[in-house]
Amino acid sequence: MTARIIDGKVIAAELRARVAEEVARVKGEHQVTPGLAVVLVGNDAASEVYVRSKHTQTQAAAMASFEHKLPADVAQADLLALIAKLNRDPAVHGILVQLPLPKSLHTETIINAIDPAKDVDGLHPNNAGRLAGGFAALSPCTPLGCIILTKSVHASLEGMNAIVIGRSNLVGRPLVQLLLNENATVTIAHSRSKDLPQLCAGADLVYAAVGKPEMVRADWIKPGATVIDVGINRLPLADGKTRLVGDVAFKEVAEVAGAITPVPGGVGQMTVACLLVNTLRAACAIHGLPKPA
Ligand code: NDP
Repeated sequence: MTARIIDGKVIAAELRARVAEEVARVKGEHQVTPGLAVVLVGNDAASEVYVRSKHTQTQAAAMASFEHKLPADVAQADLLALIAKLNRDPAVHGILVQLPLPKSLHTETIINAIDPAKDVDGLHPNNAGRLAGGFAALSPCTPLGCIILTKSVHASLEGMNAIVIGRSNLVGRPLVQLLLNENATVTIAHSRSKDLPQLCAGADLVYAAVGKPEMVRADWIKPGATVIDVGINRLPLADGKTRLVGDVAFKEVAEVAGAITPVPGGVGQMTVACLLVNTLRAACAIHGLPKPA
């Protein structure tokens, strides 16, 4: 293996420690305790794991954590009423509604109901639009994590050629905007793109956010490129268990790339850490305090 492994676990731990320091400072100097409210509807097993991890890490950073568990058959009006209450609650600076929601609920309506100032998932159209316009915004956590991981390798992304494979509102699109803000030159690929290997060939930075196990192969990658794998896919094994793999064929790509994130232990580690960053930023903005370091 020639590539440097970008250790998301270590970088996320450093980020959480920096957030905890800032939280202590904001509490001490301004008597503000950043608070995150997480709303979980139903009992999707994966969502429960994510919500638990968010709760634990929020508390570890000495922020206030508020959990709201609602039954899968909750009426949309009741969920909207809870969001309205959280919007008004001065102890809550960040509101996250865990996705996916049950099909009986209209996701767009729910997201639009969140106060954009408390939208720490960065999915409200106000934040998406502000990000696209190059204005200050709360940005989605996974793309933020991708940028921090990339900057652990390259201090500046200016002038670099980047390709983002995937154009979802959650990952691909906001990642493109964040890369533009860093002055990278960005190609956006998706399911209708032609000749992906050729599109990747000139990229210094490759981001795979597709949801297709090990799709990105070694012969797509420019030698020395930095490869950030967002994908989380479970491959069934013969013994009935599953193995977690990304969208990148890690073993072979690591022979060509200059740096690469593993799955697990890469981007996934950064998402919750960036949620803490966004909650701290939201708290500072709401209280008119300077943006945290
Ligand atoms: P979506 O399914 O919403 O989007 C997938 C994107 O990939 C779409 O834009 C789609 O194109 C594109 N795509 C699908 N097939 C191909 C193909 N053959 N070639 C090129 N592009 C293709 O997924 P998400 O963005 O939500 O998530 C992507 C991956 O990242 C998933 O594995 C998910 O589990 C993981 N993830 C990981 C997170 C983490 O914390 N590490 C957080 C969020 C997601 P089109 O638009 O044309 O349909």
